Amino acid sequence: MNQQTPARRRFIKQVILGASALALPPLNILARPARERLGVALVGLGRYSTHLLAPALQRTKYCYLAGIVTGTPAKAEQWKRRYGIPDRNIYDYQSMDKIADNPDIDVVYIVLPNAMHAEYAIRAANAGKHVWCEKPMALTVKECEAMLKACQDNKVKLAIGYRMQHEPNTQAVIRFGKERAYGPVKSISAAAGFYYNRTDHWRQKKSMGGGAMYDMGVYSLQAARYCSGEEPIAVTAQQSTNRPEVFKDVDETMTFDLEFPSGIKAHCKTSFAMSMNSLHVDCEKGWYQLEPFQKYSGIRGSTSDGKTLDAFLDSQQARQMDDDAFAILHNQPLLVPGEEGLRDIRVVETIFSSAKTGRRIVI
Ligand code: NAD
Repeated sequence: MNQQTPARRRFIKQVILGASALALPPLNILARPARERLGVALVGLGRYSTHLLAPALQRTKYCYLAGIVTGTPAKAEQWKRRYGIPDRNIYDYQSMDKIADNPDIDVVYIVLPNAMHAEYAIRAANAGKHVWCEKPMALTVKECEAMLKACQDNKVKLAIGYRMQHEPNTQAVIRFGKERAYGPVKSISAAAGFYYNRTDHWRQKKSMGGGAMYDMGVYSLQAARYCSGEEPIAVTAQQSTNRPEVFKDVDETMTFDLEFPSGIKAHCKTSFAMSMNSLHVDCEKGWYQLEPFQKYSGIRGSTSDGKTLDAFLDSQQARQMDDDAFAILHNQPLLVPGEEGLRDIRVVETIFSSAKTGRRIVI
């Protein structure tokens, strides 16, 4: 039964006519208050969510922790109490798709083991939510393409959690390369690794996307790509393992040499067997370096003409999430969109192929 009075019908008609005459947004948007901050739901409450992302979300200006998705009821209780998350914003992995009906949540941030990124990112996109996904974007090019398609089909944005691209000292070296501040780049070396002392974690399982390359190697690869500003055209890789009883079917150490179209060469290394964290770029008229180049804080560097790179950033994670939230709120391009994650995985697939034989592969 139509319960509208004639006066109300007239009013609605006037509003509709007025809105269309002035080219105003549709009524359903007018009815919603303007969003100043995006509500973020973290999916997977492991170490990174617990120790880095949730604390960072207490300091962000353009987004806040609105919800969680977890398979562990005890964690749900703890997080609910600690962060004041209402029951209606708490999901498990089965009920996650119901986020579609939750207006408190604008962004779903996937912080799960690497092999689960594609499935959960696609579910988040199908729920009509923007997707932030931890690095590496996924395990294969095919998965990355499916994630991009799901986000395009649902008209939502996809950002990858490559925090270094949001970090000011890293941004300075990216700028040096673009502006040829030390002449054209000639060669790059990037090494990221640490001694991983856990022995039975998903990072040691191939089926979960374990191994040093997916975990730390993507930082060396990213550095080679953002310092050269080019995409590699050939790859030569070697894989080795000191602890075969622990790293049964994944890489403990990977070295990979990349060749770029302009002739730039990059020597990259990653490992779960040794601690290393340095980036060095040689150019025609000088050099610059960052050490560490990838840690959560204290990124520092120097240049051949005596500059020190030591811009302070309180929280890389807060900066990353604020940059991404601001871009979404203002419909601006994301700094690290899904396409950037895909470009890495295309190279990672070639690195794994080359490591099987140690032979050079043209991409
Ligand atoms: P973690 O092992 O500490 O947490 C993983 C979470 O996934 C846990 O809460 C676990 O319960 C949950 N999970 C759900 N299903 C699972 C399953 N089948 N097997 C195992 N765990 C399951 O891992 P993490 O260090 O928090 O890493 C999570 C993601 O975040 C990874 O993709 C990793 O690459 C990324 N990460 C990024 C950074 C960064 O600096 N950007 C740092 C650390 C981790």
